[in-house]
Amino acid sequence: MTGGSCRRWLATLCGIAALAVRPVAAENAQAERELGRRFAFEAGTRIPLVRDPEVVRYVGGIGDRVVAGLGPQPFDYHFFIIRDAKVNAFAVPGGYIYVHSGLLQRIRNDDELAGVLGHEIAHVHAHHLARQQENGEWLGYAQLLAALASLVQPAAGAAALGAASTAKLQYSRELEQEADYMGARSVQQSGFSPEGMLDFFQRLWEDERRTTTAAPPYLLSHPLTEERLNRLEAVLRKSGWNATPRPSPSAALERARFLARVRTEPAEEVLREYRERVRSEPASAEARVQLGSALLETGAYESARVTLEQARTLGAADTDRDLGRALLRLRDAAGARDLLARAVGRHPDDAVACYEYGRALESLGDTPGALAALRQAVALAPDLEDAQQQLGLLLGRNGDAGEGYYHLGKALLLRGEYTQAQTQLTKAEPLLPEGEARRDTVELLAQLRAKDRD
Ligand code: ZN
Repeated sequence: MTGGSCRRWLATLCGIAALAVRPVAAENAQAERELGRRFAFEAGTRIPLVRDPEVVRYVGGIGDRVVAGLGPQPFDYHFFIIRDAKVNAFAVPGGYIYVHSGLLQRIRNDDELAGVLGHEIAHVHAHHLARQQENGEWLGYAQLLAALASLVQPAAGAAALGAASTAKLQYSRELEQEADYMGARSVQQSGFSPEGMLDFFQRLWEDERRTTTAAPPYLLSHPLTEERLNRLEAVLRKSGWNATPRPSPSAALERARFLARVRTEPAEEVLREYRERVRSEPASAEARVQLGSALLETGAYESARVTLEQARTLGAADTDRDLGRALLRLRDAAGARDLLARAVGRHPDDAVACYEYGRALESLGDTPGALAALRQAVALAPDLEDAQQQLGLLLGRNGDAGEGYYHLGKALLLRGEYTQAQTQLTKAEPLLPEGEARRDTVELLAQLRAKDRD
């Protein structure tokens, strides 16, 4: 995002805030939901997100479990991963939780992520930002939105609105302790160990004391003190929540961390590390799978194919999908189709595999098969921009103009191209039959028009 477009975005957010949100009571969940929804609509297209379904599902899956541990409550929760190497996480009122990809590199197991998410969810659940505002610490939601935006894009945010607004996102000591306690309880209820929360905070705290570099942004909005750590430790001890051994990183965490890294850090740095691992463990199938996947994600398809085939020879179990993806890009569509069919058969809920299978079928001329696979991909992962785009194009070519425009509109929206998205959705609306796609189109057009008015 350029500084200019970010400033426009911030101005839009402030406009939204001034129009839509007057000071609200803490219980006014509807106003908070509306604030969060509008923030997410803008932010989803203006800030770089990691949209890999595997990463989204990993973070969202843990988040959903922790939310379930809270019991019934007024918000639906949504989890997003920001492509940014800093250690940070923040919550927007109404149920929108953002985790920076740098945080995924720092957590050591699922319990630690559950702890961070539990703490953020508690801030939302207990209306903390709205409560701070009522206490007179906020001038209004415009500042709140500006501060949230500057957390994501510190330089542009500060240039547009003054760095002081960022400091206002700092939660008070009381609210931090409340979020710790409430978070630890919901984490425990959901079957994770709340010890992970304490471990993670303690590590950040110790790192910050040891180094002279700037503190991670996480500590700016969630200030840590020794007293806070001691209290959390006492709560865990008193509740008997502190006796569990620390788990190793799950396979899902390793994979999410890997994908987030490939999306965030320079490809050469990531590849160097995985090549080093293959050199030091030449007989490890797993090391070659990782290197092969890294090569694939960075566009080195032929090297990816060779490495993944070596991994398979060494006994790696699950190379079908990535090898199939490499073959598809090397224009071996039939070879890709066979491997991807097997990958989809084994993991029918793998959106990326479904998408790639659809592409392979499409290039072999099997339109009905391709449509079915692409539909499955967008059903599993509506934010998979490439799948929306490809499905839209194929539907259009196949004579289904209404649905074609609809999916093209969705793809453009995911890219932040509002004007073009509006054009496609406007064409889709009268052509779509009654049903979910039509309802979604009407709602998206209403959101786009509201945006135009701001
Ligand atoms: Zn906090």
